Amino acid sequence: MIAEVIVDIASSEVDRIFDYVCDEGVKPGSRVVVPFGNTHTAGFVMACKERSEYPEQKLRRISKVYDELPALNEECLALTDALAKRYRCPKALVLRLFLPAEMRTGKVKERYLRYVAFVKDADTSRAKKQAAALSYLKEHKKAEGRILDEMFGAAAIKALAGKGAVEITREQVRRSPYEGIAGSDTPHTLTQEQRAAVESIRASSQTVQLLHGVTGSGKTEIYLTLIAEALEQDKSAIFLVPEISLTPQMLSQLRARFGSAVAILHSGLSYGERFDEWWRLRTGEARVAVGARSAIFAPVDRIGVIVIDEEHDASYTSESTPRYRTYDVALRRATYHSCKLVLGSATPSVETYLDAREGRSNLISLKNRINSKPMPDIIIADMREEVRHGNPSAFSSRLKEELTRCLAEKRQAMLFLNRRGYSSTVVCQECGYVAQCESCDVSLTYHSEEDCLKCHYCGAKYKMLTACPNCGGVRIRYGGTGTQRVVSELRKLYPSARILRMDNDTTSGKEGHYKILRAFASHEADILVGTQMIAKGHDFPEVTLVGILDADMSLHFSDYRSGERTFQLVTQVAGRSGRAQEAGKVVLQTYSPENNVLRYAVRYDYAGFFEYESSLRKATHFPPFAKIVRVMVTGEKEEEAIEALKKVYYPLEALAKAHREEFLFFNKMKSPIRRIQNQYRYQVLMRLKGDALLSAIYDICSVKTRNVLVYVEENPNNLS
Ligand code: ADP
Ligand code: ZN
Repeated sequence: MIAEVIVDIASSEVDRIFDYVCDEGVKPGSRVVVPFGNTHTAGFVMACKERSEYPEQKLRRISKVYDELPALNEECLALTDALAKRYRCPKALVLRLFLPAEMRTGKVKERYLRYVAFVKDADTSRAKKQAAALSYLKEHKKAEGRILDEMFGAAAIKALAGKGAVEITREQVRRSPYEGIAGSDTPHTLTQEQRAAVESIRASSQTVQLLHGVTGSGKTEIYLTLIAEALEQDKSAIFLVPEISLTPQMLSQLRARFGSAVAILHSGLSYGERFDEWWRLRTGEARVAVGARSAIFAPVDRIGVIVIDEEHDASYTSESTPRYRTYDVALRRATYHSCKLVLGSATPSVETYLDAREGRSNLISLKNRINSKPMPDIIIADMREEVRHGNPSAFSSRLKEELTRCLAEKRQAMLFLNRRGYSSTVVCQECGYVAQCESCDVSLTYHSEEDCLKCHYCGAKYKMLTACPNCGGVRIRYGGTGTQRVVSELRKLYPSARILRMDNDTTSGKEGHYKILRAFASHEADILVGTQMIAKGHDFPEVTLVGILDADMSLHFSDYRSGERTFQLVTQVAGRSGRAQEAGKVVLQTYSPENNVLRYAVRYDYAGFFEYESSLRKATHFPPFAKIVRVMVTGEKEEEAIEALKKVYYPLEALAKAHREEFLFFNKMKSPIRRIQNQYRYQVLMRLKGDALLSAIYDICSVKTRNVLVYVEENPNNLS
């Protein structure tokens, strides 16, 4: 037989089918090892056939086949083809998305244990140990071999096996992450609004369902109901959440509800755990795949429902090749399985909501919080006034007042600031020198705990300046406030308050941020200060005050989505307040209180925001009414990057000239951040009326380049 093999090498030069001779019974989707050039390499069988177009004696033989159950099923293979085509990338790179890395290298192995089982009685009259072992097994039916060896001696067990009295088997055991998480969970009886939502989803003939529900409206319970239904029908489910929402709280709820049917796929697991969770899904032992973006590639069959929670979250777009949108992959899978794709959010992206409004998906709205709790009041604190009244601190007088009251009432507060570290810039007051990273063109952030400067793009650390390297001046100013500075100011203002901080610096490893959240949840601290990490999904019943320290930060990004991001952020953060009995409050600090987006946000007026934002984008020709395409060219040597840029720029320019009617904007330039991690970055930025030329653009950009990366981004999340 002949197997068509894709070798696991991420290069366009070998991105084609190679024929190999194989034994009967090798199945498409299997992992294999094949001779390649003068070495061996891993690969995948994409298809099998009787005959090759090449003379058979010239073909080489597959050297090893890994799986009895092929690692990939038919759907995955078809999806691989489709995605490789859509995003113009080598199939090997798409195949890698379907498999945990450790599986491709074959480094992690299944873990087997030896078991011994009773079969029948036998003559053991002259062997005391054998007699004892046999009667033990007769009673216990089956036991682990290692333990029996210790109890009765390995020789006795072997002798019993020789007599056919016992049977020895090797069985696979699985490592299971979060096994220790004890969860209690009783399904809630659905409220009328929730029930209506579930019924609307069931009855809908559309694939895509948009569940637009205010924070605290009980969307999770709806997801779980739909997942339970899929399981009852003997089907499987995929449940995606932003990485940050994979909290123990959520995992324990899922474990409690669905038991070992849940498999968790995420980057914080150990290799062995990830490997085993993956196989549990592949074999059907587990049928609910839970995880962040990459879990959309979970190896489940017969999908009954796919849920994408917080669908607007930026993490759902991949930032490495292939730069897929999770939604695109999910829609393909849902279509293949004829199941529903449920998108949930309190603040859907403009794009998603437009689809629903124009009838391309089914829109379900949840207008009320569970138990009709009101949304917390959002009070605007005008920071210009504060400055005018001589208050230079990061806290407005209103926020201080509310904090004092909150602490006095023994409740909890969360303070949100989207900037970690102590200060965002370190400036010499004599000459204006700003400390910058040597490998990236960005300013460094001061971190007070380690007393060093850090680059937030590449992670490099530098010694703190004692004098300006430019002029020797010693008056160094810390500009901009970060989370560390907020904590140190809070300590001065409220010496007896217990304060926790949560950002990228405090949360390393799988346990890092769980510990902080757990501590805050059990009221071991009064105030939690953090970046957007604290904005999502957490349910802390004793929080009655939320402070948004700098609502303008995301507003003034030079990005067409900045208004949308700000609205989402304010809504999400505000949703953390007053979730239980006590009414909550939010203090929103801004220098532009008259800003339209903020005005809709404080009234929780999503519909108003959507009308405003979508008409603005329509008028100015921005997505979803147009498409932004950025071609990035990055390389360590500037000359090489420029050479590669020319290779794509001229054909793109020709395309633009030939199709003026499709182009709204076309320009090549240095990227706003010219260098990141020593890579020079050039870009061609385009705005197109639609997708008509997309395919031609991808074609132009699949040029062969040396030492330079060329890639296409569609509606990128940030344009830095
Ligand atoms: P959302 O995801 O929409 O922000 P959640 O799913 O977190 O909202 O639900 C908010 C709270 O309401 C949670 O504490 C949840 O346990 C509770 N809840 C959800 N549904 C019900 C229900 N039908 N009856 C009572 N409590 C519920
Ligand atoms: Zn750097």
